[in-house]
Amino acid sequence: DNDASDSLELLKDKLLGGLIADGFDETSCLSRYQSAMYHKGLSGKPSSYLISRLRKYEAQHKECGPYTDSYNRTVKALRSGQFTESSTCKYVVWVSFSGLGNRILTLASAFLYALLTNRVLLVDPGVDMTDLFCEPFPDASWLLPTDFPLNGHLNNFNQKSDQCYGKMLKNKSVANSTVPSFVYLHLVHDYDDHDKLFFCDEEQHFLQKVPWLMMKTDNYFTPSLFLMPSFEQELNDLFPKKDTVFHFLGRYLLHPTNNVWGLVVRYYQAYLAKVDERVGIQIRVFDAEPGPFQHVLDQILACTLKKNILPDVNRQQDNISSAGVPKSKAVLMTSLSSGYFDKVRDMYWEYPTATGEVVGVYQPSHEKYQQTQSQMHNQKALAEMYLLSLTDMLVTSSWSTFGYVAQGLGGLKPWILYKPENRTAPDPPCRRAMSMEPCFHAPPFYDCKAKRGIDTGDLVPYVRHCEDMSWGLKLV
Ligand code: GDP
Repeated sequence: DNDASDSLELLKDKLLGGLIADGFDETSCLSRYQSAMYHKGLSGKPSSYLISRLRKYEAQHKECGPYTDSYNRTVKALRSGQFTESSTCKYVVWVSFSGLGNRILTLASAFLYALLTNRVLLVDPGVDMTDLFCEPFPDASWLLPTDFPLNGHLNNFNQKSDQCYGKMLKNKSVANSTVPSFVYLHLVHDYDDHDKLFFCDEEQHFLQKVPWLMMKTDNYFTPSLFLMPSFEQELNDLFPKKDTVFHFLGRYLLHPTNNVWGLVVRYYQAYLAKVDERVGIQIRVFDAEPGPFQHVLDQILACTLKKNILPDVNRQQDNISSAGVPKSKAVLMTSLSSGYFDKVRDMYWEYPTATGEVVGVYQPSHEKYQQTQSQMHNQKALAEMYLLSLTDMLVTSSWSTFGYVAQGLGGLKPWILYKPENRTAPDPPCRRAMSMEPCFHAPPFYDCKAKRGIDTGDLVPYVRHCEDMSWGLKLV
């Protein structure tokens, strides 16, 4: 944790200590340089090596990006199926897939993989990526062009595709002599043991030669990259503090578009800016029925009251407000349902707090159900993740990538609400996260060298099992 003068300095620094490149047009993407005015500053300092590596990446992206000579040459080779070793640029294509929280985590993971393997990251725009995010790299787009030859196949790639790397390994059709012009990497949660060999150095050695890697994933696979000997040194240099990976890469890559930024700033200024303290509560209920559920409300209150995140109320109503200006708290709640918000807001209206604080409770939207294809729905979802990241204390729900994005962007260690079983509030209701990093929900448990199963959460002190998912892995 950095000291107060450090963070004050960073707060004023719109380039986040050099993490973000200077020289972008400001008006086309206001969030890029304005976000520093709303966040508390970075949690920790990016290493000078990370900063220089990002500048180097940007130069490479400009050299290899869409419609450059190098790009045109490798696309031509892709069309003809004729691969020339001389092609200097190699690519990883991120295929748009899954909910918004998942997509944000996989973007960061794919970008880190691109850095580690000297590839250029190109992003399948899907239905809404351009509505949500600005271009992160100077002078060159990160979007996969509309005439990219494999565009018609992106959504059809699966484990049965001939180009699926796991299938190729299974069929022993990987020959070191012939290098395919592209390979499909299936890193979705349902992937099999062959697909998981992606996380072995030996397979990376082969993949190195393939010009185009098409990657589909819904998981934050970064923790497993930290267990690969071939990446160890580089990752050490990039991230001397290992729990900052998503925090730094997220803040580097993800700049909401002006529309989304408007949603963030208007809400922040209207409801959150003028209080002494901001608390975020992210409620995600994985249940077939929409709720609201009493046991979830009980759990929220048990956690926030027990951990002194919110003040208790005095139901005898005998404390008359004292003189002077009371301390003020704003509670930002996010949920698909408005039920929890209604109850918490009413509680602080109907009764005085035991501490004399005043508590305002706000929830930007209650969209009822997930609508992955709707533009405004996803813009609001991004704005809400971002708003949560601007709070001082955060409570999140287990298993939710929506919450991981908020904690990671904010540099916050949240209190995680344990996942309820059998519709009862767990006891204890929550625990503090070990780090601000997201959890990898579907990691491999395999020792590539010994070729047998192993507990990958028990190998090094900085890759541990997650607080909210016993088989997941996270950086700490
Ligand atoms: P996860 O399912 O919690 O891991 O998060 P994802 O973001 O991947 O998918 C959940 C999706 O449901 C979001 O992208 C939103 O579309 C929607 N959603 C879930 N919770 C909320 C919420 O609190 N607010 C809004 N606006 N949308 C939500």
